[in-house]
Amino acid sequence: MTTQDDLRPILTTESGAPVADNQNTETAGVGGPALIQDQLLFEKLAHFNRERIPERVVHARGAGAYGTFTVTADVTAYTRAAFLSEVGKQTETFLRFSTVAGNLGAADAVRDPRGFALKFYTEEGNYDLVGNNTPVFFIKDAIKFPDFIHTQKRDPYTGSQEADNVWDFWGLSPESTHQVTWLFGDRGIPATYRHMNGYGSHTYQWQNEAGEYFWVKYHFKTDQGIRNLTQSEANRLAGEDPDSHQRDLREAIERGEFPRWTVQVQIMPAADAAEYRFNPFDLTKVWPHADYPPIEIGTLELNRNPDNIFAEVEQSVFSPAHFVPGIGPSPDKMLQGRLFAYADAHRYRVGINADHLPVNRPHATEARTNSRDGHLYDGRHGRQKNYEPNTFGGPAQTGRPLWSAVPVAGATGNHVAPSHAEDDDFGQAGALYRLMSADEQQRLIAGLAGFIAKVSADRDDIVERAVENFRTADADYGRRLDEAVRELRKQR
Ligand code: NDP
Repeated sequence: MTTQDDLRPILTTESGAPVADNQNTETAGVGGPALIQDQLLFEKLAHFNRERIPERVVHARGAGAYGTFTVTADVTAYTRAAFLSEVGKQTETFLRFSTVAGNLGAADAVRDPRGFALKFYTEEGNYDLVGNNTPVFFIKDAIKFPDFIHTQKRDPYTGSQEADNVWDFWGLSPESTHQVTWLFGDRGIPATYRHMNGYGSHTYQWQNEAGEYFWVKYHFKTDQGIRNLTQSEANRLAGEDPDSHQRDLREAIERGEFPRWTVQVQIMPAADAAEYRFNPFDLTKVWPHADYPPIEIGTLELNRNPDNIFAEVEQSVFSPAHFVPGIGPSPDKMLQGRLFAYADAHRYRVGINADHLPVNRPHATEARTNSRDGHLYDGRHGRQKNYEPNTFGGPAQTGRPLWSAVPVAGATGNHVAPSHAEDDDFGQAGALYRLMSADEQQRLIAGLAGFIAKVSADRDDIVERAVENFRTADADYGRRLDEAVRELRKQR
């Protein structure tokens, strides 16, 4: 008689040999010590020990899905990017959402910016737009990034996030006031990844067929509507269901409720940049909509879950340096640092051949380089020559840069970013405070005060510097915050 077990394929070792016993380790006699010749035991334990790769230092905790980007407006006057070349054109995408500060196993429902890292698999190569759910950031120069993140992560001595470190750094970095206001506003804890906007945040360059160029900012407005959690709702959810956002995304796609975003851009003619009232390459500022109204250009839909989280989400890599013809960087100093840091992180975490993995490689074209070998190289190039120039039909350069050269002036040096007529670190933070409803302002102040009040009792100077930044943004904001912090510190 054929049993169920007879129908199963044979279990093997990694080298393909049949396994006789997967339940009992081979020992020297009954009850004796294990034998080194039990290859299966050692192979299983050794592989298990190596299951993890280094987690991302930031954005460790994430979830992703594949989707489709569809062009809905003619933007050929602004960019020659092929994937944006005609209305109705569709491009496959992969989007990874994340929190920033938490470790790989941290809860999803926390107050933290969310990563919104989008890969377009275009016919001219992969275009990665590594954005966030906020249009601005805490700092404007990448040289401050490691310091900033150290204040958000665990203190070297206590092993916990410390209010002293966070507020010391933010107080001494007034350019953070805008983003901190955003983070402690209602949108600081999105209810799900589906109910939040995404932003390219940095300014990028678009170049058209004629070689003219424009500065551009991307906005992904959620079609599901904005939904947020209050701090107490988040505290409860983080405890009850640490995987809340990841689960919500997967289940929505399984139900066929495909989340969608309307894609908009703000476009600034290159000639405007020098005299614009804000430095257009300062990541701590937005371009007010009244100055450069958002134009709708497409829709993004997520419609397919990854089959294997490790292979497709943990090993997915994005680099803001992955451009395609017609799109390029701006002189934004945070962006310039990220152009290096992302690919460097992947080389360390996933390895030099990370771009060969199915989720990372181009899907609508092929990569043709002369780079070879390295850890886990799969031999994909076979006998092809591995140098250039060559007379064996190897790939050749185009001679046409992807984006336009931009003029520069002056001497090298550790320059402060140029300040334009209305540039300060506070005006836009104040504008954000004033556009919040009275209820939201109340929640903002309660959230900020609760955190600032945790600063050590003997460090009032840290508290005062922190509050002063909000007072400079808006007098009412600062007064109310000051009162709330004083009250809480009295009770300690
Ligand atoms: P607008 O009145 O034209 O736009 C206000 C923007 O604020 C909208 O994009 C709105 O998003 C967003 N918003 C509303 N409530 C909140 C909140 N609690 N937290 C974060 N964003 C919120 O104003 P301006 O363009 O002149 O900008 C005024 C301020 O709005 C800026 O200083 C900035 O802080 C903030 N903002 C501006 C953005 C921009 O690109 N100009 C983008 C996002 C925020 P929605 O339309 O989805 O409701």
